[in-house]
Amino acid sequence: MEDSNDMGVPGFTKAVVLNSPEDANAYLTRVRCPCGGNYSVAGRELYCTYGCTYDIAHVACTSCGEESDIYFDITRIIEQETSQRK
Ligand SMILES: [Zn+2]
Repeated sequence: MEDSNDMGVPGFTKAVVLNSPEDANAYLTRVRCPCGGNYSVAGRELYCTYGCTYDIAHVACTSCGEESDIYFDITRIIEQETSQRK
């Protein structure tokens, strides 16, 4: 069953809201695969939609190899950086 009420892109509704860029790395070192293994980050991707900016981390479990995407809502960080530049 696909959940289609989240702008068509799964994951954004469970995005982790960040207040500073360092929080993303802190979160990634804390988060664990359901099997208990650590995730290693295979890639990062920025995604902008509906006035919000997301930082998507593509991760893979170092124990079982399970791949996952972790969504960060960095809209607030972008807004802070933009307002500081003015
Ligand atoms: Zn795992």
